[in-house]
Amino acid sequence: MRWTDACRRARTYLARCLTLFVCALAASLSALVSPLQAQAQQQPTLPPRSSAAVQPQFLVVLDAAHGGADTGAHLAAHLDEKDLVLALSIRLRSMLSARGIPVLTTRESDVTLPPAKRAAMANAHKPAACLILHASDSGSGIHLFTSSLPPAQPTAFLPWDQAQAAYLQKSLRWAAEINTAMTHAGVPVTLGRTAMQPLDNMTCPSAAVEIAPLTKDGAVTTELTDPDYQSRILAGLAAAIEGWRHDWAAQP
Ligand SMILES: [Zn+2]
Repeated sequence: MRWTDACRRARTYLARCLTLFVCALAASLSALVSPLQAQAQQQPTLPPRSSAAVQPQFLVVLDAAHGGADTGAHLAAHLDEKDLVLALSIRLRSMLSARGIPVLTTRESDVTLPPAKRAAMANAHKPAACLILHASDSGSGIHLFTSSLPPAQPTAFLPWDQAQAAYLQKSLRWAAEINTAMTHAGVPVTLGRTAMQPLDNMTCPSAAVEIAPLTKDGAVTTELTDPDYQSRILAGLAAAIEGWRHDWAAQP
């Protein structure tokens, strides 16, 4: 054998060895990668998130204004505003409960309750509607108030005394529902905007009603204590809340 032949054969042998080594290395890598690929393919896939939001419970907050040391207006002999609105609040709560509407009352007795605490109680439950009850011996029918705050975006950070601003558009629709129902019940309504606590602090559709006697030509024709008049007012408010529940359920 010549030296050049020996070199050629040695080169061929080395080339074969190198080819075998590369094939073996490729096979090893393939064996290593395949389980990883299989594992990746076996990763559980999360189901797509449902776009349908869970509808929260429809809850109404009734706030009988005043109470305890805060008597409110003296409406008649032995009748303070705090007692009249408490009685009406409890009657309305019973009427709504009979219709299957959950109600939270801020007070069920003659207790002193600061406005901030009333608002905190309401806001903690994210109610669908808040209704503040006042009474007066002046004016006629129902005085219906919404907050006088300028409307703000719901996403905006708002100080406590302006919290209602983000809900004002809904509050105006809620007040319109009350206006329609009370007018249908034959009770005259006067609309107004006011700066008032806890109205301005509530983070829910909110309105305040001030119940006054019925008058004609400046003279009282129906007293606040008239049972039929009270029943008519409560029927109107219950109808408004029923209507609001229907509209609320249709909202996205
Ligand atoms: Zn009052």
